[in-house]
Amino acid sequence: MTLTSHSIPLLILTAVGVIAENAYAEDEPHGTAAPYAHMPGIAPIGVRIQSHLPIPEQAKGPRVDPAKGYRLEKLGDGLYMITDNVYQSMFLVYEDGVVVVDAPPSYAKSIVDGILQVTELPITHLVYSHSHSDHIAGANALGEVPTIIAHEETKDFLARANDPARPLPTVTFRDQYSLKVGSQVLELSYHGDGHEPGNIFILAPAQQTLMVVDMVFPGWMPWRRFAVAHDVPGYFAQMEEIRRISFKSLVGGHVARIGTPADVDLQIAFLADLKAAAASALATTKPGEGLDPKTVSENPWAVFDDYIDRVAIQCVNDLTPAWSTRLAAFDVYIWDQCYSMEQSLRID
Ligand SMILES: [Zn+2]
Repeated sequence: MTLTSHSIPLLILTAVGVIAENAYAEDEPHGTAAPYAHMPGIAPIGVRIQSHLPIPEQAKGPRVDPAKGYRLEKLGDGLYMITDNVYQSMFLVYEDGVVVVDAPPSYAKSIVDGILQVTELPITHLVYSHSHSDHIAGANALGEVPTIIAHEETKDFLARANDPARPLPTVTFRDQYSLKVGSQVLELSYHGDGHEPGNIFILAPAQQTLMVVDMVFPGWMPWRRFAVAHDVPGYFAQMEEIRRISFKSLVGGHVARIGTPADVDLQIAFLADLKAAAASALATTKPGEGLDPKTVSENPWAVFDDYIDRVAIQCVNDLTPAWSTRLAAFDVYIWDQCYSMEQSLRID
């Protein structure tokens, strides 16, 4: 049989027995094929992008040896980034052992191997940047680690999750924690909620390296909805905090390369343009415009959905000329960023 766009939902509904065939015909939604005016060339959410914008050279990093599946990058005295070019973590070697910061499960088994390329000293400490499993749920691959350090909010999240892949921290702190091991130092500090409560800054002062995870994406568009920021105004404020810290190298937890202060500046400039574009779209778009009067009078959800869609369209159109070639994967997540921005401007 031939499936048409009408027969697919009909088949689904009939199959689950929710609604009879003739009743469905009367309630069939109308107008799903009418496009909005001024649709951007960037495909909206829920539409498969067949051909993506090219990745700019400045977003690329050194390649990973496919046989190893990871690469090491020395950031200074005893400090290394380890990455599979999608996730990033670090380790710091001192006189009697090694401190690991984060253990992404995607390459956690390689962290021990990577450390062995540098030293045979044992792992004595593990620091969690935050509670999310995609950054720390490889912890058990490191073996028994005597000391696990995290923010107290991270401990609360992990206690609730009760996840054997994310052992509870043995040491927690609220504002600051200075980890002194032999002659090496890591300064841990908390700057409030942005990505999520408990997400900390990890500064290696001697190596001029700052690690902050899921905030800055060097060369790239942030992951969708500001990397699913728990608190969008907090996320924006924390970008400025990052910029105030003196560092040379930034370990952002994602993408293929180390970041620099210039990457933070670029992301801040993008966020400022995004905020301005969404604010302008909210101010100049009228709810209900072009909608069927019956819908306007009886379905506020539909009115708002249509309004927000048109706000997002204007936001994407505003940003595309200046930003589509400056940040990798602009086309993948710009709609998500515009929807997230307009929501935050309306309700936060
Ligand atoms: Zn996260």
